[in-house]
Amino acid sequence: MTDTAASSPARAAGTSWLGWLEGKLSWILLGLVGLLLPLLDDSYIGVIAQRAYIYWVLSAGLNLVVGYAGQIAIGWVSMLTLGAYTTAALAAGRIGPEWNPYLALVAGGVMGAIFGVIVGLPALRLRTFYFAMTTLGFATIVTQVALAWKDVTGGGVGTPGPTFSWPFEPGWGFYYFCFILAALATWVTANIGSSRYGRALVAIRDAEVAAEASGIAKPKLLIMVFLLAGALGGVAGGLFASLQSYITPDAFTFEMSVLFFIAILIGGRGSILGPALGTIILTALPEFAAPLVQWSTFLYAALLLLIVLLIPGGIADLLDFKNRRPLEQHREIAPRKELLSRALDKTDGRHSIVLKDIALHFGGVRAIDGLDLEIRSGEVHGLIGPNGSGKTTTLNVISGYYKPKAGTLKLDGGDLPFDRPHLRANYRIARTFQTPRVVGAASVLENVMIGGTVHGQATFAEALLSLPRNRRDEKLLRAAAMQALATVGLESLADVRADRLQHSELRFMEIARALMLRPAFLMLDEPAAGLSPEEIRRLGDLIKAISREGTGVLLVEHHADLIFDICDRVTVLNLGKMLAAGTPNEIRSHREVVSAYLGA
Ligand code: ADP
Ligand code: MG
Repeated sequence: MTDTAASSPARAAGTSWLGWLEGKLSWILLGLVGLLLPLLDDSYIGVIAQRAYIYWVLSAGLNLVVGYAGQIAIGWVSMLTLGAYTTAALAAGRIGPEWNPYLALVAGGVMGAIFGVIVGLPALRLRTFYFAMTTLGFATIVTQVALAWKDVTGGGVGTPGPTFSWPFEPGWGFYYFCFILAALATWVTANIGSSRYGRALVAIRDAEVAAEASGIAKPKLLIMVFLLAGALGGVAGGLFASLQSYITPDAFTFEMSVLFFIAILIGGRGSILGPALGTIILTALPEFAAPLVQWSTFLYAALLLLIVLLIPGGIADLLDFKNRRPLEQHREIAPRKELLSRALDKTDGRHSIVLKDIALHFGGVRAIDGLDLEIRSGEVHGLIGPNGSGKTTTLNVISGYYKPKAGTLKLDGGDLPFDRPHLRANYRIARTFQTPRVVGAASVLENVMIGGTVHGQATFAEALLSLPRNRRDEKLLRAAAMQALATVGLESLADVRADRLQHSELRFMEIARALMLRPAFLMLDEPAAGLSPEEIRRLGDLIKAISREGTGVLLVEHHADLIFDICDRVTVLNLGKMLAAGTPNEIRSHREVVSAYLGA
């Protein structure tokens, strides 16, 4: 065992260098092609490339909204329209004096940012299709306004686009302008994507409750992302107006919006490279199949269907060579509880979470009906009872998902707020889930790093520019996550996609994610379900060791052996009511418990 510990850093260094090249190589190639393309001196190809860059400036931002956060913003062409008209109208002097086109482009970006947030706000309340409809509705409104507001937009007749001056004058100068902005858009979105903010977005997409339990506040994060995606869309619009040299409302079609959206889906959700390639392909495709232009919508749809059916993970999946290497067949999870002292803070003094008279009803169902419970630091408190007796609901009340009808919930005598699940992380209250909530498409390491999101210091803007504080956050989170993985015995799987893991491994991975909070209290919902007897024994050892470091553990379980082996105290629930409470020995010999639950 010490053997693997000694060899793993060396192995990690080797693979990370290769991984680095694997990740960067495609970008280096793309960049070289882009830089050298003007040598061909083919202005037709130049225009197609400019269009691809411009579309990518928009799609790059939209990718964070759609691909990362999973929000169906299908009408994002509205940002292109807004940016185009703002830039064009200001540069042409349709509103006050003529603006410098570069300044007008900045104004286009600002306009996009403002409306990006306004259009994005409904996503905080509306689900999927309803939100998709609002973005579409907004795109229609913008086009209608552009048609009607003749003084500023020229209405149906249109208005000339801006002409940028030296060094980015029309021709190859403008080409390089678009190229540079596309590269910038790639850089900032990749920075966000690989920061704790990017991981948080993906967590919101695939495991929202786990994201909240890790302290991720969805509204704040989404607003930031909509702002960025709107700004990039606005800038793309200004460039688009210049490329078109003359814009009318019918230049901004629904098909364009579909193109941006589908480029991201066929590129692969949660990737930057895939959607970039997707955008290039979809921009170039109709050009090289000119007779098929009328069929482009149909082609996109067919392409999307094909990709969804053949490679659901998109282009990014095709390029993910790392995860095609087979995994070792007979893996065993060997937790190393001696590492716990580094993963946890030795809790000073006694702390407790106290539930008093908690009652919670779902319609007519009394899920919890007047429950008292105390979780103390340094102890394992078992919570057992038949299915439907209210165990998970109790856990959800403590982690702030439900507001009970009556009763109090206190931490060291102070009230714990209800209805605020994302604030629990600040109190260092961590949990796992009865059905593991994980991001299947992210690596095991990234999944665990999500658990430490609240420990990051860098702001969104610092992450955007990959400033030192963000890089330090990443380094610390990575090291802490590796440590947590080593503690639960999964470090050899750190780089593997989580959806390739076995069920029992996911359960230990969730514990590692919970450890990232250095929890003062840890709540485990049936962690032994689906584990082999040997794994259950190791799990029991680990849980016991966690409590001996000072953490208060609430353990919901069905395996009576595990409960009686490691719990200091046990509460038995039946129909939302406490049937019995006491030491394992008292419970084991409790007449009602034995007849109602444990069986003769
Ligand atoms: P346990 O975890 O002990 O198996 P739960 O706490 O999940 O039980 O459920 C307790 C009772 O509350 C069950 O009757 C269940 O059907 C009901 N219940 C739990 N969650 C909800 C919900 N979100 N809406 C309606 N009923 C619920
Ligand atoms: Mg349950």
